[in-house]
Amino acid sequence: MKTKSFMNSSDSHHLAVIVPFRKAFDELQAFLPHMDKYLRNKNIDHTIYIINQADNLRFNRASLINAAWHEIRKEGKADYLVMHDVDLLPLNKDLPYGYPRKDDVVVHVASPQYHPRYHYKKFIGGILLMKLKTYELVDGMSNRFWGWGQEDDELFVRLREKNIQILRPNNLTTTDQNTFLHLHDKIKRPRDGLKIGEQKIETRRRDRITGLHDVSYEVEERRILNIDKAQATVINVKLHCDIKGTPWCMIPTKGPSKGKAPRA
Ligand code: UDP
Ligand code: MN
Repeated sequence: MKTKSFMNSSDSHHLAVIVPFRKAFDELQAFLPHMDKYLRNKNIDHTIYIINQADNLRFNRASLINAAWHEIRKEGKADYLVMHDVDLLPLNKDLPYGYPRKDDVVVHVASPQYHPRYHYKKFIGGILLMKLKTYELVDGMSNRFWGWGQEDDELFVRLREKNIQILRPNNLTTTDQNTFLHLHDKIKRPRDGLKIGEQKIETRRRDRITGLHDVSYEVEERRILNIDKAQATVINVKLHCDIKGTPWCMIPTKGPSKGKAPRA
């Protein structure tokens, strides 16, 4: 890593790896041992949390991360977090997973320059790292995004409004083809791109109402998962949906079920 804006080991800090999750067991089997070993090799003190959505609503990545933040803060062990897709495995040992030096920065590890699929400038999805307090500063993420996509773009706006800088790795010796392994089979894991009712219009807006402070959920169960030598804390979370505010949170039971799914 050439830039000095972030450190590369966690020193006395503790990283919470937050993995929003539902049903992706094959990916998890690859991710957990890989990630644990990868962070150990970099001397990053960490705990991996699998935040498993256990309700019958559409997938809500942002609310799962909000819920995880509260659970992790209660535990009091971690002081920084990385929200991490289960299907994106870091391969380059120089990627920045260390404690950020400042409160007003986030580190976009899965930078558009190196992400195998997303190359737009404002992209901050996939893997994003920051202090717990930075996440609080922007009130986390909107709870209005049910289904696939756009919650990360809304977070981009929250960060910009608070003048939080996005740091990205550069000068890596790898490319968008071999910095990460994206284990995403579009047939096995179709993205839920359905836009129901007002969803399309509503989720283009910056949400000034919901966020970290009002995420509504219950923890159904907590357990330890071991795969090979790696360990994770699985938290089964049931999200609550405000049906009046976001009627598109329900999985449709009838009618056409094919959304306009984006390409893999
Ligand atoms: N995810 C999941 N189950 C799902 C949908 C999403 O576990 O049914 C989690 C998983 O961690 C995944 C992340 O949410 O990596 C982001 O979803 P996806 O991989 O579809 O997004 P993309 O490939 O477009 O970045
Ligand atoms: Mn994916």
